Amino acid sequence: MQVSSAGFLESVDQNFRHAMSFLDLPEGLAERIVQCNSTYTVRFGVRLRGRMYSFIGWRSVHSEHCEPVKGGIRYASNADAEEVEALAALMTLKCSLVDVPFGGSKGALKIDPREWTPQELERITRRFTQELNKRGLIGPGVNVPAPDIGTGEREMAWMMDEFRRANPTDVVNARACVTGKPLSKGGIAGRTEATGRGVQFAILSFLRDARTPGLDGRRDLKGASVIVQGFGNVGYHAAKFLSEEDGARVNVVAERDGYVAKPEGLAIEKLKEHQIRTGSILGFDGANSFAGDMNGIEQRCDILIPAAMENAIHAENAERIKAHLVVEAANGPVTFEADKILRSRAITILPDLYVNAGGVVVSYFEWVKNLTHIPFGLMERRRRERRNQTIATALERMTGKEFPADIRDEFLEGGAEIDLVRSGLEDVMRSTWSRIGDLLEEQPELGDYRTAAYVASIRQIADAYEAIGI
Ligand code: NAD
Repeated sequence: MQVSSAGFLESVDQNFRHAMSFLDLPEGLAERIVQCNSTYTVRFGVRLRGRMYSFIGWRSVHSEHCEPVKGGIRYASNADAEEVEALAALMTLKCSLVDVPFGGSKGALKIDPREWTPQELERITRRFTQELNKRGLIGPGVNVPAPDIGTGEREMAWMMDEFRRANPTDVVNARACVTGKPLSKGGIAGRTEATGRGVQFAILSFLRDARTPGLDGRRDLKGASVIVQGFGNVGYHAAKFLSEEDGARVNVVAERDGYVAKPEGLAIEKLKEHQIRTGSILGFDGANSFAGDMNGIEQRCDILIPAAMENAIHAENAERIKAHLVVEAANGPVTFEADKILRSRAITILPDLYVNAGGVVVSYFEWVKNLTHIPFGLMERRRRERRNQTIATALERMTGKEFPADIRDEFLEGGAEIDLVRSGLEDVMRSTWSRIGDLLEEQPELGDYRTAAYVASIRQIADAYEAIGI
């Protein structure tokens, strides 16, 4: 069953209104918070392959209670204005929940990137950027896009370059006009992996918290079975970290053309190489391939991670999901109706606005790095290394023993950018989990983690609106 993007917008709206019913907001404020401030539709032509092609795109600004506004840009042939508005609303909620100082925005271009060569995509992206720039919908202090479905660091580098060209008298902070750029263009170590890394931290935070049901009582991931839907940026990184670092078994990976399965666990890195080489996960050596079968997510597992697109779990397939925990790595993968069905079957859901916030958290670090013009850790790294060396020497003198060789290098290291980024992200994901868990403990009537996350987030937005007097 295909759920429309109007259905997605409706689901976000229903979640919003359900959470609002637990909040005593001044009259009019609730409506102000729910409504999307503006959605700009852009149509433009690009001369390609000897003729003119027309493209349509959108940039929605959901809330400017905090500026700049922030949110990804997706390239997808099924994109539309409703989907973009729903995603922009989720961005507002997400930024508020994890306490990064942005309002919510989102953009899309209705295009299948696989139908165009890189040179053609570059021309299309640059034209799209010119349109956004004309309307004040891109810029370090107003609106800061990032990658999403169908876009990555390459597209962000083109957008940044086009923005710089269009604003030649203000290039000092121009790099901060987008995040998710390549390192050589002002990006930050760890941005590409950030959302998948955040998914890992979210699951670990949930398992560590004794107030949660864990995985049917279990609190570690050793041997836990995992199904991942969508083997793109987010799904691949989440699968990689959970299997390589935490001992989980990813036994099903589902994609748009079917799924692959291996009960002992798939070799994630090799599966990615296979996908890059052949253009599909199907036909992977040593695993069973189920071409055209879209029911991979219905297999039995401990953890199901939908990491592809919205509405993946809906009223019709929710009854057939056989997981203890559903971890929403994608935006809006469980519809409002499906959410009720899953919960009635005692399946726990970790909500998207928390689970996939890692991307925007590390984007925030990148934006700050671009504006301060100094890499994280530059001023302290050597001093920290010398201090660690002094501690190691003191310990050796006091004990008369040599510092263990296997941990020496790690102990002496002063902290590279990637370590600082991961540590900052882990801190945000852990403390945000505590906020959600504490709120649900204080107000058990909220009933579930999604409602608790919405309530925590909306309260903060309401405070911001009240403070600025709107
Ligand atoms: P991506 O384009 O890198 O990957 C998406 C993958 O899903 C692709 O491999 C695609 O083939 C697959 N897919 C599409 N339709 C499918 C279907 N019906 N069944 C199975 N697989 C399907 O995109 P991404 O950046 O990994 O984003 C995935 C989700 O995570 C989206 O909902 C996005 O909004 C969300 N998200 C992404 C980020 C980020 O930093 N990239 C941050 C927050 C949230």
